[in-house]
Amino acid sequence: MNMSEIKQFSDCKLRGELRHNVAMNKHVSWRAGGVAERMYQPADVADLQVFLRSLPVDEPLYVVGLGSNLLVRDGGVRGTVLLMHGALKELRVESANTLYVEAGVAGAKLARFAATHQLSGAAFFAGIPGTVGGMLAMNAGCYGSETWQKVQRVLVINRRGELFQRSAEDYEIGYRHVAARPSPQSSPASGRGGDREKHDSIPAQEEWFVAAWLKFEAGDSDTARQEIKTLLNKRIATQPLNLPNAGSVFRNPPNDHAARLIELCGLKGKQIGGAQVSEKHANFIVNVGGSTAADIENLIKEVLDVVDMKTGVKLHPEVRIIGEAA
Ligand SMILES: Cc1cc2nc3c(=O)[nH]c(=O)nc-3n(C[C@H](O)[C@H](O)[C@H](O)COP(=O)(O)OP(=O)(O)OC[C@H]3O[C@@H](n4cnc5c(N)ncnc54)[C@H](O)[C@@H]3O)c2cc1C
Repeated sequence: MNMSEIKQFSDCKLRGELRHNVAMNKHVSWRAGGVAERMYQPADVADLQVFLRSLPVDEPLYVVGLGSNLLVRDGGVRGTVLLMHGALKELRVESANTLYVEAGVAGAKLARFAATHQLSGAAFFAGIPGTVGGMLAMNAGCYGSETWQKVQRVLVINRRGELFQRSAEDYEIGYRHVAARPSPQSSPASGRGGDREKHDSIPAQEEWFVAAWLKFEAGDSDTARQEIKTLLNKRIATQPLNLPNAGSVFRNPPNDHAARLIELCGLKGKQIGGAQVSEKHANFIVNVGGSTAADIENLIKEVLDVVDMKTGVKLHPEVRIIGEAA
């Protein structure tokens, strides 16, 4: 964005928070990485619509939740990071067994809310330290449950600020994989069409999750709370939660576990700079202190190479890597 565009942008009736040169290490669970040129945290869904309509056409945009599956390179992110956590936070009972939850709500909060409302089947969300938006984008899951198993429908927004409701049929959904199928011609769920002409040059294909309607089974609060407790204890026992990490770095290959292969290759404890393959869980890379994003990315590459060379299995990172090298 040039100076006049920034001014025009700031003059819009925005109610959220626009910041410049924001250190992304505060917004990713690895606690490493560079600076975002701009960061916008919308006040609510309506404010997000105004923001997207006011954004210059050529401004790069990247959506971030809790950054628990994200590596931001040390050279930082050109353009604007849209921060959902702490922004889109509505969470309510919509109807019997169905919750409406906005994209910025954390998994732990969702799990506790479901337990309070005597719903069962939401405990697994407590173990995933991301937002609902990030979990929808990743089809996050654990212990046999996955996010999209619970989805009735989702609310998405495009670059023009238009809202649409979509269902699971509109996506190709798999293990840590969600991709929109080619978009049908649909009319906006709400919002003003008046800005449309102005934005005809903006590609509308890219969409982000704003909210979801999730369906659970009827249960009881005590059992649901106990389930959350058991699950969290299991995580504490098996994961290196005392050090900054991004959960499992690699997707599990079919019928195998990435952690088993990494350990088999003698890579547990392997360190580059401040990044280390965890001694506790080989599919975790931990920041043992002062790690750069480059340390982490180089260690990821090293693991990929060694596992391929020694076992012939090509692992694929589950974590998303964005930004420029330093
Ligand atoms: C200790 C630990 C344990 C973990 N355990 C698990 C686990 O058991 N199972 C599991 O699946 N994952 C696990 N993870 C990984 C991570 O928590 C999940 O992938 C989570 O879904 C990421 O959510 P987030 O809000 O942090 O997303 P971010 O890391 O902020 O973003 C991840 C991706 O989602 C996209 N995204 C974020 N919000 C939106 C949105 N609103 N609309 C569209 N795209 C969006 C981003 O652009 C990015 O590409 C773990 C991570 C940690 C640190």
